[in-house]
Amino acid sequence: MKIRLYNTLGRELQVFEPLEAGTARMYACGPTVYNYAHIGNLRTYVFEDLLRRTFIYFGYKVEHVMNVTDVGHLTDDGDEGEDKMIKSAREQGKSVWDIANFFADAFFQDLAKLKVEMPEVVCKATDHIADMIDLIRRLEERGYTYLAGGNLYFDVGKFQRYGELALLDRAKLQAGARVEVDENKRNPQDFVLWFTKSKFDQQAMLWDSPWGRGYPGWHIECSAMSMRYLGDQFDIHLGGVDHIPVHHTNEIAQSEAATGKPWVRYWVHGEFLVMTGGKMSKSAGGFITLESLEEMGYHPLDYRYFCLGGHYRTQLQFTEDSLNAARAARRNLLDRVDRVRTEAARNGASLGETAADELGDAAQAHLRAFEAAVAEDLNIPKALAELWQSLKDDSVTAQERLELARRMDRILAIGITATAEGISEADAPHDDAAEIEQLIAERNEARSARNFGRADEIRSYLKEKGVVLEDGPEGTRWKRG
Ligand code: AMP
Ligand code: ZN
Repeated sequence: MKIRLYNTLGRELQVFEPLEAGTARMYACGPTVYNYAHIGNLRTYVFEDLLRRTFIYFGYKVEHVMNVTDVGHLTDDGDEGEDKMIKSAREQGKSVWDIANFFADAFFQDLAKLKVEMPEVVCKATDHIADMIDLIRRLEERGYTYLAGGNLYFDVGKFQRYGELALLDRAKLQAGARVEVDENKRNPQDFVLWFTKSKFDQQAMLWDSPWGRGYPGWHIECSAMSMRYLGDQFDIHLGGVDHIPVHHTNEIAQSEAATGKPWVRYWVHGEFLVMTGGKMSKSAGGFITLESLEEMGYHPLDYRYFCLGGHYRTQLQFTEDSLNAARAARRNLLDRVDRVRTEAARNGASLGETAADELGDAAQAHLRAFEAAVAEDLNIPKALAELWQSLKDDSVTAQERLELARRMDRILAIGITATAEGISEADAPHDDAAEIEQLIAERNEARSARNFGRADEIRSYLKEKGVVLEDGPEGTRWKRG
């Protein structure tokens, strides 16, 4: 099945043709971990998970990389403002490292609850400073940088295709109306690759570099880490639409300037979740988290179901009414799957998996329609409607309906699979194995860096969750205690 995606680069639907047949290599900008993720951020990660699951469904090997921005970055998208991590640490009386670890853990818990699968690689900015320095060096060798006021800048004037992704007009950019004036910049859109002159007090995260002790700019993180794991060229770059004009525009400039080659083939952007009264932003305070929805009595998958109701390229308006409607619809759906299961059992049908070629024509047609919707630029609302229709179709046997629902849930992931196995949601195992593995990897890293405080913290955190770690010669094993 051909998958078509809307490429922001070129603004058109294109058939996805990977660089290597059968493999989809994709990079997603991860969270900045100075606070909890809000449900707007989580909408973007649900969208990225739907794309990931779609590739897997259609038999692709997926290499999905996501970063964690644990170096503080600024309150603005420009180079101005206050460092968010420091601000958060000051407000909470913790170290910036504590803040970053705490919120990264909280983020991965949210993802697990939303059945967002873990990418193959999750990489932290603070573990890749050397890669960033290498990349900046390449840019320096090729003449794209200049030092001014103690900071190293990228000179956008040297990169002819600057702004192509965002359809920026170079002539207008020169006027620089929208960007705060930085006397050191040659062009208003120039951005810092390496800071040595911190504008902030008590800068806690500092590294040595050829340009002096300091810290990297935000944009270079993503270029360095994506290329480290996916190579100089890869298939897809993901993120929210807010990143098009600055962050992704700058990522392209510095990556292509460093390699001299085209970088990413498909840029796929998710639209925003909006609240009445405007967009939801982490820096604005007063935002909704997944935990707050749970406290209000929603299941995390109610929120996932809500997200599936809007195409990823349209804004989704968040209201309590629409979340209530999503919850009611999901309950109804699970009840229906439960009844189909009972009916299949009553008919003496096998409740195990049915091979696709054993499905009758009507069932096959539903599956094809579902697949066509998903493959056409991830039309999940249409795919969800197809699931409902197949469950209501009397010309399809109960056993087949159960099988269809199960197959569709491989992409939708809204709790059908457990129900189809006869497991009630309350008893369904918490799907947190990936999160546990991730924490164990982090603990191992902490131990080799002799950061035993952090290692112990992870052990006790897992213990509280009922997970016991056993360290042995073959590494760390875990079991539920
Ligand atoms: P941040 O942690 O701010 O870098 O954001 C993490 C991800 O969430 C990025 O891909 C953003 O584009 C995305 N994002 C931020 N706000 C929203 C929103 N209101 N709706 C959807 N996605 C968002
Ligand atoms: Zn990024």
